[in-house]
Amino acid sequence: MNGIRYFDHAATTSVKEEVLKAMLPYFSVEYGNPSSIYSIGRRNRRAVEDARQKVARAINAKPQEIYFTGCGSESDNLAIKGIANSLKTKGNHIITSKIEHHAVLNTCATLEKEGFYITYLNVDENGLINLEELKNAINEKTILISIMTANNEIGTIEPIKEIGQISKEHDIYFHTDSVQAIGNMRIDVQSMNIDSLSMSAHKFYGPKGVGALYVREGVPFTKMQDGGHQEKDKRAGTENVAGIVGLGKAIEIAYQNIDEYNEKLTELREYYISQVEKRIPNIKLNGHRTNRLPGNVNISFKDVDGGELLLKLDEKGICASTGSACNSGSAEPSHVLTAIGLKPEYLEGSLRITFGEDNTKEDVDYLVDNLENAVKDCIEKSKI
Ligand code: PLP
Repeated sequence: MNGIRYFDHAATTSVKEEVLKAMLPYFSVEYGNPSSIYSIGRRNRRAVEDARQKVARAINAKPQEIYFTGCGSESDNLAIKGIANSLKTKGNHIITSKIEHHAVLNTCATLEKEGFYITYLNVDENGLINLEELKNAINEKTILISIMTANNEIGTIEPIKEIGQISKEHDIYFHTDSVQAIGNMRIDVQSMNIDSLSMSAHKFYGPKGVGALYVREGVPFTKMQDGGHQEKDKRAGTENVAGIVGLGKAIEIAYQNIDEYNEKLTELREYYISQVEKRIPNIKLNGHRTNRLPGNVNISFKDVDGGELLLKLDEKGICASTGSACNSGSAEPSHVLTAIGLKPEYLEGSLRITFGEDNTKEDVDYLVDNLENAVKDCIEKSKI
């Protein structure tokens, strides 16, 4: 792949060949509008409905509970604002966590300005919420709990089934941001008592710019944008048929092979952790040691600038990510690493590696060789 070693699958993935093949006709020969009643339109409608079934099957929902959107962020906005605004006469309290993605945190911030109040749950040093703290936060005004399935920076998987059970017992709706989890772990919205769930195709070898939202039948939610009657009046706008077909194909493939995929990624993850532990001193593994996404490893290197480390790795053709925000031009350290209580000397030097299907053990060896040198260089430089 152009001499590049790609270890940033949590940022995005390539589109699988079979996915691209399934999408291509909808850019050219099958160009009809799914709302048109003639045959080329009806064929597009069937393609959209077929994708809806595939998404529903993957998470054990009903097809009519799936809505297509433009991305994971839109799904989060639609779910949280949509449910909150429908229930504002009943209550105005929402519970979320301190380590959510900004698609959730900024949505909650907007709702705060509109009169909702939000409880942001703490997490422990592994990134896990505390179920007792959750129970204690619930009051008669609580209408919604939104806790992510798995964290995008540190990979920790939250106790979703237990949160679903608590929500059900208290008659509160439960939304989960599964953008990082879909395609990486099994999710069953029935057994996990999930009322609403967000996903994004580009995280599981589908195209960018298309997401999906599951909302359990009977859960009230209002639309965000005005327009036509697409997506059962919940998301106006002509459907992105090629993207939706791609999302459907990608999720189908992901769940056909999920066990082997997880096994492969877990092996790479464990090998990488063991090599780094062996060869690089003064490190800290961020996130839960085992209860984490199979392909995610986030390690902090003491007294290292994560942004600088990334640039050094980039020179060697290595694509990775840093949990700290220094590479995105912000002076603020990562809200996730801050929430897990990482010591200051480790806060700036985190490196998130997320493995994917093309990675090999040899890639990991290449990564660790270069990482060892890059960390040494960064530490030397910091002494000058
Ligand atoms: N939620 C989580 C946990 C994510 O990791 C991301 C993207 O990285 C999003 C939401 C937003 O998804 P999208 O980029 O499709 O808007």
